[in-house]
Amino acid sequence: MDSCKLPQDEHVQEEDLNTQCKHVHFNGPIIVGAGPSGLAAAACLSEHGVPSLILERCNCIASLWQHRTYDGLKLHLPKDFCELPFLKFPEDYPKYPTKHQFVAYMESYAAHFSIRPLFNQFVIAARFNDGLWRLRTAADYEYVSPWLIIATGENAEPVMPDIVGLDKFGGKIVHTSSFKSGSDYQNERVLVVGCGNSGMEVSLDLCGHNVIPRMVVRDTVHVLPKEVLGLSTFGIATVLLKWFPLKLVDKFLLFAASLTLGNTDDLGLRRPKTGPLELKNVAGKTPVLDTGALSQIRAGKIKVMEGVKEVTKNGAKFVDGQEEEFDSIILATGYKSNVTSWLKSAEFFTKEGMPKVPFPSGWRGDNGLYTVGFIRGGILGTSCDAIKVAQDIAHQWRAIKKQQAQTCL
Ligand SMILES: Cc1cc2nc3c(=O)[nH]c(=O)nc-3n(C[C@H](O)[C@H](O)[C@H](O)COP(=O)(O)OP(=O)(O)OC[C@H]3O[C@@H](n4cnc5c(N)ncnc54)[C@H](O)[C@@H]3O)c2cc1C
Repeated sequence: MDSCKLPQDEHVQEEDLNTQCKHVHFNGPIIVGAGPSGLAAAACLSEHGVPSLILERCNCIASLWQHRTYDGLKLHLPKDFCELPFLKFPEDYPKYPTKHQFVAYMESYAAHFSIRPLFNQFVIAARFNDGLWRLRTAADYEYVSPWLIIATGENAEPVMPDIVGLDKFGGKIVHTSSFKSGSDYQNERVLVVGCGNSGMEVSLDLCGHNVIPRMVVRDTVHVLPKEVLGLSTFGIATVLLKWFPLKLVDKFLLFAASLTLGNTDDLGLRRPKTGPLELKNVAGKTPVLDTGALSQIRAGKIKVMEGVKEVTKNGAKFVDGQEEEFDSIILATGYKSNVTSWLKSAEFFTKEGMPKVPFPSGWRGDNGLYTVGFIRGGILGTSCDAIKVAQDIAHQWRAIKKQQAQTCL
């Protein structure tokens, strides 16, 4: 059984659970999630001398990276932008570490800060009651603490699209969270739904295994070069943003994209009217960093399709009237937060499970509630959140300790 999934029916009601649960009171903050955000939060707290407890639904740290990403994945951004606080990547790591190297780094990060999460603790309900956060896990534990740090990620659950007839398809359907390698699809007819970073990289991987994937591009998309003149596009944008307004930096990025990648509209990849950074800010839509898919599209080795009208038993009908047969469908339809499914007493989140308070204030709620990793800023954003959250809690922690010491005198 997948240890990251609820052991019972996913829609289990809190009331249905055995009320004879075991109680654990913890003085320090409780962190939900042992991904990069949870680990960074625990490390930053420990630097302030504040103990913390991590509850993780899976049986390992960084489960997204270990279990739900494809074999060929490398960090999309250079390593300098993906470091967690207080520990650098090993010197000999390449500019874009592989996912295995990233996982090894996080293992050593956890070991370095003596972080030992409690695994197989799927938090199914958390509410604030009598000045304390009470977290219920599927393993029948109740954890109680004055502080709750949510680090369950923007990518907690796969998004499954609502496509007519998908349930009738006779072949294999997988979400990219379960896709491992193009070698599993050798010589197959494959439909890839979605054209974000995952959709592009999966399509590229398939090309290397005698597959000519059909990639569905329903919406507009910004494709940017991963690097310009050997420098990371993201790095350049970060530097430029220190000096120039966002709209101007967007103009520069689009100019660099047209110089290096040419006109992507001609390939069926229409650009949105809003610039790439502005779109990321307002809609959370990450631009695609091209790792080679574009040249395969140009060479006809990845075929761009406009949209699926309907999936049939053997294939799909497209909006332009074409119809094709497929052996497999890969859903590169992204991920979503799961916070609203278990956080019972906070008005802090939208129904999509993202903080309502816009960047950069979304890391702190009321009543000792905090978030790390919800500002759509990748691992860099995670590090910034973790530092701020730890400082804020450490301030309260020291005040409590001082008060306790005075009471003892
Ligand atoms: C394919 C892919 C490539 C990416 N590449 C990059 C990159 O190069 N650079 C970058 O900055 N970002 C990248 N990202 C974004 C990346 O997901 C995040 O930056 C990073 O993993 C976020 O860490 P996190 O800890 O916030 O979330 P996650 O890594 O998702 O960790 C959250 C943890 O919480 C646990 N959890 C969830 N719900 C519960 C619950 N109810 N109870 C207990 N535990 C729970 C999960 O099991 C998981 O271990 C990529 C994302 C994907 C999908």
